[in-house]
Amino acid sequence: MAKNETEISKAEGKAGEASVSIGPEDLLPRLRDQGYTEEHLKRRREWVEEKTGAKLKHMGNFSVDPAQMRGNIENPVGVAQVPLGVAGPVLVHGEYAQGLFYVPMATSEGALIRSYERGMVTLSHAGGVQTALLEDENQITPTFFFAEVAQARAFSRWVPLHLPEMQIEAAKTTRNGALKNVKCYQLGRQVLVNFGYHTGDAQGMNMIVKATEAVCQWIQKAHHGLRYLIFSGMCSEKRPSGFLLTRGKGKRVTAGALLPHSVLKTYLRVTAEQLFQVWHSTVLGHLQAGSIGYNAHYANGLTAIFIATGQDVANVVHAACGVTYFELQPEGLFVSATLPALSVATVGGGTGLPTQREALEIMGCVGRGKARKLAEIIAAAVLGGEISMGAALASGEFSAAHERYGRNRPE
Ligand code: NAP
Repeated sequence: MAKNETEISKAEGKAGEASVSIGPEDLLPRLRDQGYTEEHLKRRREWVEEKTGAKLKHMGNFSVDPAQMRGNIENPVGVAQVPLGVAGPVLVHGEYAQGLFYVPMATSEGALIRSYERGMVTLSHAGGVQTALLEDENQITPTFFFAEVAQARAFSRWVPLHLPEMQIEAAKTTRNGALKNVKCYQLGRQVLVNFGYHTGDAQGMNMIVKATEAVCQWIQKAHHGLRYLIFSGMCSEKRPSGFLLTRGKGKRVTAGALLPHSVLKTYLRVTAEQLFQVWHSTVLGHLQAGSIGYNAHYANGLTAIFIATGQDVANVVHAACGVTYFELQPEGLFVSATLPALSVATVGGGTGLPTQREALEIMGCVGRGKARKLAEIIAAAVLGGEISMGAALASGEFSAAHERYGRNRPE
């Protein structure tokens, strides 16, 4: 048992009365040094090893220059090595992505990459996926507080009239970001103000928090010390909500393809009717559960791609809200996936870290001017996952596929 664990269990009295005294010697040595050299990481690892009894051989074995971790992590001790595979190819006919793409995915879920690969290859044999980027806007929604409903109403009318001044204030804080629109939602004597931003190739959360703080301070001056809170929760960052389906967050992207009968039979081993039936009956299951949107498993593909490419993985919570639908056609089955809140970047966040950058390189999505291309490739890949999982259910292969690829049976 690790030292800390023993101390805590000794200190535990009755249930709910656990107490433990934490002294300076229990805090990681970050207070004494904030360093990002190999020596700093080694010292922290040794400290953790001594404190906990764990042996950190693999965490400390990496090729990344620790200096590059600054801004992405605090108290670094090493790296978490997540298995990384590649699925594809998927043929994309998009506005920003055109051609055959291989998609890097980092996961420890066996069968996941094989399933996405099967779907992507099927889509390619069917002639490819058409994708379209419908909107590109990140949002943040502060709350402003008033003494009376009437004051809040007057403020809701005032805000849209002053968009140009707010745009100037926001522009002082960022070169690539731009405030595009503002919309008020009044609740009693509070007003939630939704600010919509263009964020270039960045996911933009740091960017738009900074810009909105500047705008709020300008509003505060114009309204003699008006009180506000920068986050109301309405923009649904890292939370699922119905707001995401209609208003979106980040990139709203859609993908669709027509799967001919012969392709369905050869590559997915199902008929159009079988796959359609799975979609239809699982829509009912989603309705029964009160789900937000409908999809088979966007979160699976998104999480693996987000880890591989340095996206903020917690954004999967909102990015996985979307709608898959299938339509029977005389020629086969039309299949489609729409992601209204896909938060992805090719600049900023973790996208510049070495392995994450390599993953973006695989798709030709490094840096400026590539975020929309990445969004379209991801939408196509996600559609591959949808048809593959649907087909596995329809053909009764779902459990067998997991038995075959997804178990390592530890003793
Ligand atoms: P960032 O890494 O903080 O900033 C990216 C910066 O890159 C932008 O501010 C921009 O500078 C610059 N840039 C250079 N070329 C660009 C281009 N072509 N397009 C866009 N920007 C370009 O990343 P971020 O996207 O603003 O924020 C994402 C990070 O915020 C994630 O890591 C996420 O985990 C974190 N996050 C923050 C909060 C928060 O409340 N602050 C909440 C959740 C998550 P300019 O601004 O001068 O243009």
